[in-house]
Amino acid sequence: MQFQRKDCRPPFLGLNGRLPEELFGALPTPCYILDEAALCRNGEILKKVAEHTGCKILLAQKAFSNYNAYPILAPYLAGTEASGLFEARLGAEEMPGKEVHVFCGAYREDQFEELLNYADHIVFNTPSQLAKFGPTARRAGKSVGLRVNPECSTQEGHSIYDPCAPGSRLGTTRTQWENYMTPQLEDLLDGLHFHTLCEQDSDALERTLQAVEERFGDVLPRMKWLNFGGGHHITRPGYDISRLENCILTARKKWDVEVYLEPGEACALNAGYLACRVLDILQNGRQIAVLDASAACHMPDVLEMPYRPPLYGSGEPKEKAYTYSLGGPTCLAGDIIGDYSFDSLLQEGDMLLFGDMAIYTTCKNNTFNGMPLPGIYLLNSDRKLVCLKKFGYMDFKCRLGK
Ligand SMILES: *Cc1c(COP(=O)(O)O)cnc(C)c1O
Repeated sequence: MQFQRKDCRPPFLGLNGRLPEELFGALPTPCYILDEAALCRNGEILKKVAEHTGCKILLAQKAFSNYNAYPILAPYLAGTEASGLFEARLGAEEMPGKEVHVFCGAYREDQFEELLNYADHIVFNTPSQLAKFGPTARRAGKSVGLRVNPECSTQEGHSIYDPCAPGSRLGTTRTQWENYMTPQLEDLLDGLHFHTLCEQDSDALERTLQAVEERFGDVLPRMKWLNFGGGHHITRPGYDISRLENCILTARKKWDVEVYLEPGEACALNAGYLACRVLDILQNGRQIAVLDASAACHMPDVLEMPYRPPLYGSGEPKEKAYTYSLGGPTCLAGDIIGDYSFDSLLQEGDMLLFGDMAIYTTCKNNTFNGMPLPGIYLLNSDRKLVCLKKFGYMDFKCRLGK
């Protein structure tokens, strides 16, 4: 198949007009390629927001934990955010000298002491967790926070990603606050935290902040900081950054709080690729190509979210002459990446390049079906490829026994 040298949309800017095969043809597939220039581009955008507003921005590691790339992002960020002990330790070890924040749905007694070695800010989900661990965290000199639920859903369809959906376990509602908070518990708090957005623009943040004010506006002046969580798609082309900056400046002024943002996606958005090859072509009422990469194993959010990842040189189904359904080599019938069209016929061995593959991939993939994990490469600022990690049979076997 012949690709054209014109596909320069944001997911593929880093190719600089070169073809996937030219740049990545020598790499064993499937493999992920992280793009240093794109990470820096994101970092610059985030750093400007911090400079314009005085807020602090953290990398939410659950989206992107390729720590070999932390030195690339560190100059632009105030630190890292963790979902628990291991990510907190990773942030402390690999972005040294920067802040480590942690939020966990529920902390474990057998891990809490160790967590104190790594975390600067510890955010609790409920008043009962605050009561159980807050005094210890305080004595250890930690900044203590409570995640609140402003009960303001701003997204439709993705209820799996909506912490404000009815019956949510994430965050303390005002009703729960009224029922369980005491003055002594409130004395433990340095800040409040909310995380309610997912791939959203700043208008959703603006609405959320109104809800936060309605429900917790009386508490906020007593706080030192307010953490806006993640889900801010700040580095996406078209994101309304000035509205975000207004939200931050308004919150700082109104409540005299320090503001934190902890985006995951926005740090590494459009900053990676997944290179793979066509293994087989078949027809069953439609053209189907089986790839050496799997949605279920290597890009799990394609099925979980679900979404259709960008693919270099392709069009929507039927937009170009030849449409294929692209699937993985696993036994899962639903291991389908999506339908894409091309200018010419696909052939066995063709390289395909998926875009926006740095986030929720390398840290979320799996070896279902005994699928090998893709290697991880860095396309550095000199446009040289550096191998960060290769995987083999033992990476599959070692998790299953000894
Ligand atoms: C998931 C999550 C983030 C990051 O979300 P993105 O959508 O990747 O920006 C930040 N904070 C918390 C508490 C999260 O759960």
